Amino acid sequence: MTERLYYRDCYLRDFRAHVVETADNGRRVYLDRTAFYPTSGGQPFDTGTLDGANVIDVIDEEERVAHIVDAAISPGEIAGQIHWPRRFDHMQQHSGQHLLSAVLEILFQIPTVSFHLGPEACTIDVSAPSLAVGQLEQAEERCMEIVAEARPLAIAFEDAAGDLGLRKESQRTGTLRVVAIDGVDRSACGGTHVRTTAEIGPVLIRKTEKTRGNMRLEFVCGLRALRQARSDFRTLQEISRQLSAPANAMPALVAAQLERVKTLEKANHRLAAEGAQREGRELWAAMAPDADGIRRAVEHVGEQSAIDDTMRTRAQAFVAQGKAVFLAVSRNPAAVLLATSADSGIHAGDRVKTAVAAAGGRGGGNQALAQGSLPATADLAALTSSLLI
Ligand SMILES: [Zn+2]
Repeated sequence: MTERLYYRDCYLRDFRAHVVETADNGRRVYLDRTAFYPTSGGQPFDTGTLDGANVIDVIDEEERVAHIVDAAISPGEIAGQIHWPRRFDHMQQHSGQHLLSAVLEILFQIPTVSFHLGPEACTIDVSAPSLAVGQLEQAEERCMEIVAEARPLAIAFEDAAGDLGLRKESQRTGTLRVVAIDGVDRSACGGTHVRTTAEIGPVLIRKTEKTRGNMRLEFVCGLRALRQARSDFRTLQEISRQLSAPANAMPALVAAQLERVKTLEKANHRLAAEGAQREGRELWAAMAPDADGIRRAVEHVGEQSAIDDTMRTRAQAFVAQGKAVFLAVSRNPAAVLLATSADSGIHAGDRVKTAVAAAGGRGGGNQALAQGSLPATADLAALTSSLLI
């Protein structure tokens, strides 16, 4: 059984221990005692070193703690060192979570059902159908008052059979590790915690979302909160610089810009359609009819573009002038569009369906307009001839 040194002293960074057993060629190490926290209760494992080797994972095996290292460890006495910035960050987040959960319970009788400490942000799921912005702000401010009061956090081992007055009842029996924030909270918890609420630093609630009947609250504490606020400010500053207006004008300004883009897109679409119609008419006027009195136009679409709305509009404008056939051919992707005037005697849909099927593709349409797609290997020159006859 591994003695968990972090249970009693969360500030222990350097320790000595004996290697009790190794596995996986010395890469999985069991010690008689450890200050390394294994992933459990929503809190991730500690990193650090065992002698020269980096600890890359720490696993809770109930009775024992397994240390996964990146270099083989030999039996004997060993020096362990915890990577402190990561551990202290976890302590700030985890103590901050106890505080926030307690405050939500005290202010609004909203219980916390789960906790996750992620690499970027932490989340708690709370049992509530919704949370008002005002409630979140009130909870944040109450947390900050308690942080400013520098209330002690005490860790004690108590008998589960007694009346412990815990925020959330524990299912465990025997001895419980109770983490208490003076006058605010008592919770059964195996995690690592700061000494007073002052060390939690800022508690910043970020987004909320509904999740399976609960609400999920994302939050950050301590140095993370500072870095997040700084990063948010930089983002806002950059947007503000690009739009040449103060940050508080951004929501209205961005909404106005989006509206403007929509209006311009509509106008652009209309102009493109008008242009395509004019081009279709001009092409027809400039073209001499074949011996049978039909004008036949063929357009090849470049490698980079497909047959689009503009091409379709041009084709329809061309054939609208009468006695006309318009064929667009695209190589990549291999496709064709055929438009015919009613007086051309050609049914576009039937013509495309037959010719494209013969070339191994699929297509069809109505009397006036049809499209088909073809395999990349199709003989487009032969297809073009068969469509235009
Ligand atoms: Zn906890």
